[in-house]
Amino acid sequence: MKKPFAIDVDDVLGNLSEVMNPVLNRRFNKQIPVAAWSTFNISGLYGITVEQFLEVIIEEKLLEQMQPYPGVKEALRRIKTSGRDVVLVTSRGYHPVGQKLTETWLNQHDLYSDGLIIVPEGLSKAQAVVGRYPKGFEIMVDDYPPNLDKMKAAGLVDEVYLIDKPWNQDRPEFVMGHNRFLSLVDALRHHFHLEKGLDFAVA
Ligand SMILES: [Mg+2]
Repeated sequence: MKKPFAIDVDDVLGNLSEVMNPVLNRRFNKQIPVAAWSTFNISGLYGITVEQFLEVIIEEKLLEQMQPYPGVKEALRRIKTSGRDVVLVTSRGYHPVGQKLTETWLNQHDLYSDGLIIVPEGLSKAQAVVGRYPKGFEIMVDDYPPNLDKMKAAGLVDEVYLIDKPWNQDRPEFVMGHNRFLSLVDALRHHFHLEKGLDFAVA
């Protein structure tokens, strides 16, 4: 039995920063490009609290507007046909209807998954998954290094892949083409390449 893949949603399956950036710039009267979002603490860049930041995401329906990255739909199916379950793990616990909203979004965009974990506020992703997936995952893909660090430290994942973003450039030990990739599709292509007969092709 192959272990499942754990995959993040925001800025991994879909481009959240693209819809978030113009809204934050407008609401807080700044002109900061995504390329200058050099910290995960985006609220600090805008001089607002984390609560205000999350409120904007909810009020402006940014999660609903997010578009999937190219090739993601095919990539999730490809994982399934390789014999692994697709488990989506997202830190959307701050959102009052995070579960329902995410299920609707996945359906709208025809994105496959076997499981969806909405991490409750105050828990790490590792803490949120261990009850349901005590044997852990073959790989985890995320854009926030501490999520990968904690899953690894908990012994719940074999390989971790970071999606390259402006806010994770402070982690040079994640090396492009090795454990850092521009996209989920690139990370999977790398991972499947290691396994004979599992070439990963995306149209
Ligand atoms: Mg993310």
